Order: sequence, then structure tokens, then C-alpha cells
Amino acid sequence: MSIRELTPEQARARQLDGVLLIDVREAHERAGGMAEGALGVAKGALLADPGRHLPDPEREFMLICQSGKRSGDAVAVLAEAGYGRLASVAGGTVAWRVAGLPLVQPLLDADERDFYDRYSRHLLLPQVGEAGQRRLRQSRVLVLGAGGLGAPASFYLAAAGVGHLRIADDDVVERSNLHRQIIHTEAAVGMAKVASARERLLALNPHVEVEAIRERVSSDNIDALMQGVDVVLDGSDNFPLRYLLNDACIKHAKPLVYAAIERFDGQVSVFDAGRQRGQAPCYRCLFPEPPPPEFAPNCSEAGVLGVLPGLAGVMQATEVLKLLLDIGEPLTGRLLRFDALQMRFRETRITADPACPVCAPSVPFPGYIDYAAFCSHRA
Ligand SMILES: [Zn+2]
Repeated sequence: MSIRELTPEQARARQLDGVLLIDVREAHERAGGMAEGALGVAKGALLADPGRHLPDPEREFMLICQSGKRSGDAVAVLAEAGYGRLASVAGGTVAWRVAGLPLVQPLLDADERDFYDRYSRHLLLPQVGEAGQRRLRQSRVLVLGAGGLGAPASFYLAAAGVGHLRIADDDVVERSNLHRQIIHTEAAVGMAKVASARERLLALNPHVEVEAIRERVSSDNIDALMQGVDVVLDGSDNFPLRYLLNDACIKHAKPLVYAAIERFDGQVSVFDAGRQRGQAPCYRCLFPEPPPPEFAPNCSEAGVLGVLPGLAGVMQATEVLKLLLDIGEPLTGRLLRFDALQMRFRETRITADPACPVCAPSVPFPGYIDYAAFCSHRA
């Protein structure tokens, strides 16, 4: 069928005669300027329930979008639904602007305008879009550690608009941290890491909330830290904390985005056994017990290439965003290992251990094991 099209000038003349003009672009697109007098109703909402926005099928109306494509498509669909007197504006808002016809900025408060500007490149992605971006704003992520992994990960999560970050760490910034923990600056040396991180994150994006918890994480406070969060990011640098976090995520049914790094090597995975008991593996399915303290790198500090935690931390942030948006395929059941010297990535399938002491479906939660005391005692 042929779609009735009007030039912007013709549409403007009809509009001044009282014909309704509807801008069918998404709200974030209209935020950049829309035809004066137009009513904003996104195409999806209009087509989902035309009768709500256009109660009278006999009435004449016009649709406008960005370039004329979407409005033309919508006109075709609505014609099928019995709307006989409608037209699409050829060339859309772009042509309207070129023709010098009046545009208005929709009334938005400062927060809304910031939202549409700041996340405009996210809003262009159909996999994120306005609904996804609002979902990120409602999300809460626990970041354990404001060091090598937590620094780049939380930086990107704040930038991406994750609304609430809870960061726990009891360390202070040392000069030897700065070659990799890029959230901290020279001026922050001697400051609590969580306070330094909070300051930088809010400087980057004042619209996120950052809860800075300067505490040593242990079995005493882990339950409180897990409250209300959607995803947990493991930025720990030691085995006792990693096992504690794994067990807590199973107990509280939270997905855990894991990474570990050493020298030039790293590994990343998502452990989602808490929500997928018996299906998805946990960290203990892979490594049932921590290594003896004398073999654990945290007890005998290994070196690390400065960029390495950045690489791993940004992969973790990527997995967190995917989980929050429910898009793509998470690293659940896959261990991604990389060697930065050779720049090779290798993926290993990992499966849930039916005899896992913590995540096997029939096993009641065994309680937390305080490896921390054991390790520090031995050290
Ligand atoms: Zn397990």
C-alpha cells in the first residue's frame, strides 16, 4: 500500500489547521528537540494501544519521527487497524529542522536532561535503551575491594549509570597501588580506599550513590553487605575473602562476578550457583578448598603488570552490566583465562559439582568458614 506523505511545510500547515502531529520517537530522541506542538508518544507505545492515544479512528492525524521511516511504518500498521486519515511527515524531524520550522525542547528537569545526555550512546543500543538504562539506575552492586579489580570495575559501573554501588574495603591508598588502581590519585595516598574511590566516582557521575564501607569483610558483616544487592563483584585479592564471598552468594542467591590476576595472567567467570542450584557451578565446584597459606600468592605477594587488573576488572564490569540488563550470554559455567604476555584467551567449560559441599541442591548451607583467621595465624 502507498503511505500518504506530507512535506514538513505541508504538515506544519495542517497542524496549524488543528490536525494532531505525533512524534513517535523515543523520549531520549525527542529530548534533543521536537516539532513545536507535537505530542510525544513512542512508536511502540502507540502501536501497542492505538485506541488509548487516538480514540477516534475518523480523525485526521500525522506522524513524525527522525527520518520518516518509523512514522511511515507506523502509518502502514495503523491503516491496517482501521485508521484511514493519517499521514507521515517525509524526512522526519531532520527535514523539519532543515526547513527551518519551529522546534521545541520538551520540558525536562535537570536530572532528566542529564540522563538523556549522559547515556545517549547507551540509549542508542536496542539492548539497553531507555528501559535498560532506567533499570541500571535502579540497580545495586556490591563491589568487594577498591583495589586492582574494584577500581576499574567500579569506575565503569558508575560511568555506565549503575545507580547504587556499595564498596567495601578497609585498606588505605599506598603509592605502590597507583600503577594499577587508577581510581586513586597521588593526592589520595594515605586516605581510606573507599573514601578515595567514592570521591572519584562522584566526580565522574554525581547521579550515582556510592556507599563507602571501610570495614574488613568477614563472616561477621558479610550478610549485612549482601542485603539488597543485585550482583556481587569479587575484587578481593585473597583466598579467605574469595571463599567467603562465594559461600555468601550461594546463601543469598546472588550472582558473583569473579576475577583473579597474577603477574601477566588473569581469569574471569560468573558463579551463579545461588540462583541456579545444581545447574551453574560455584567457585568451590572448581576449587573445593583454598590452597595452603604457604602456596597462596596473597601471603607472599606476587607482582602484577599494571594494566592486567584493568583488563580483568573491565571484563567483570561488562558481565555485571549484562547480568543487570539480562542481555547476552554471561560467563556462567565458563572460565575465561588470559595470558597478557602472549595475549591469548582460552575458555574452559566448568560444571556444577553434584557433591559440592556448599552449592549441591540437597545440601543445607553449612555456615561460613573463617579461613582469614587460619591464614593470618599461619602468616
Ligand atoms: Zn559448588
